[in-house]
Amino acid sequence: MKLLASGKVRELYEVDAEHLLLVASDRISAYDVVLPTPIPDKGAVLTALSVWWFERLAAVQPHHLVSASAGVPEEMRGRALLVRRLSMLPVECVARGYLAGSAVAEYAETASVCGVRLPTGLRAGDRLPEPIFTPATKAEAGAHDENLSFDRVVATVGGELAERLRERTLAIYGEAAAVADRKGILLADTKFEFGTRPDGVLVLGDEVLTPDSSRFWPADQWRPGGAQPSYDKQFVRDWLTDESGWDRRPPAPDLPDEVVTATRERYVRAYEQLTGLSFTSWPP
Ligand code: ATP
Ligand code: MG
Repeated sequence: MKLLASGKVRELYEVDAEHLLLVASDRISAYDVVLPTPIPDKGAVLTALSVWWFERLAAVQPHHLVSASAGVPEEMRGRALLVRRLSMLPVECVARGYLAGSAVAEYAETASVCGVRLPTGLRAGDRLPEPIFTPATKAEAGAHDENLSFDRVVATVGGELAERLRERTLAIYGEAAAVADRKGILLADTKFEFGTRPDGVLVLGDEVLTPDSSRFWPADQWRPGGAQPSYDKQFVRDWLTDESGWDRRPPAPDLPDEVVTATRERYVRAYEQLTGLSFTSWPP
């Protein structure tokens, strides 16, 4: 198979004119740098979670998943998805239900995020009055994604499609956040990528609702007023900032075993708590 692209954590192969293979590795990145130490099973956990969400959301939104088994080479089973090839739109479609991440600084400076005005007095971790659409550019390798105003999205893809991206992003977010809520998890924010099929239908692509594309917070530990415990790279980031002495320029240091183990457990727990399934039964 022809390798079309290699991202920080995933590889994209061409299967045929209509299909691609999206392969998730165990690599982990922090502060936009790939770390030298992999997290065992991370690629499989993220793939399993994407599959579960695609299936749950199929009634809400057409998606690109064709199969996680048939058509996937044996050595990639569990961490690869056969998907329908799309013409991807150059917009990262972010939905936020809580104030976190890059939105905290933007809100502190402008009282808004991506041009969406917010009430005053919000703290980091607070729930927003309603979920908002905060699109970003799809940055080239090595660059950081940049937030976009809605007008910039209109200029990029046209008004009709921009409206549709906003509507779809918020609809899928709303559905997913409700599902997560019932499992004791707050979906603070998430990023989707959409593409179009040759017949023009708008389709949800990429990975969805994983700890790499989303902030999942255990609801019982939610304490607005600062950073929240989360089901992702939190141990890695904490160790990198508090203990490693790393200056955030590549290369990053090797992770200690306990950080690797704790991070793996965190990913597996997110999967099991959300889906109610045991990760030991993946791949099916
Ligand atoms: P980064 O490491 O910053 O995430 P990246 O986004 O280029 O870089 P990946 O996310 O690993 O790298 O690669 C996945 C790529 O595949 C993305 O460019 C995404 O837009 C693209 N993609 C996802 N689904 C499809 C699809 N169905 N058809 C075509 N391209 C797709
Ligand atoms: Mg990507």
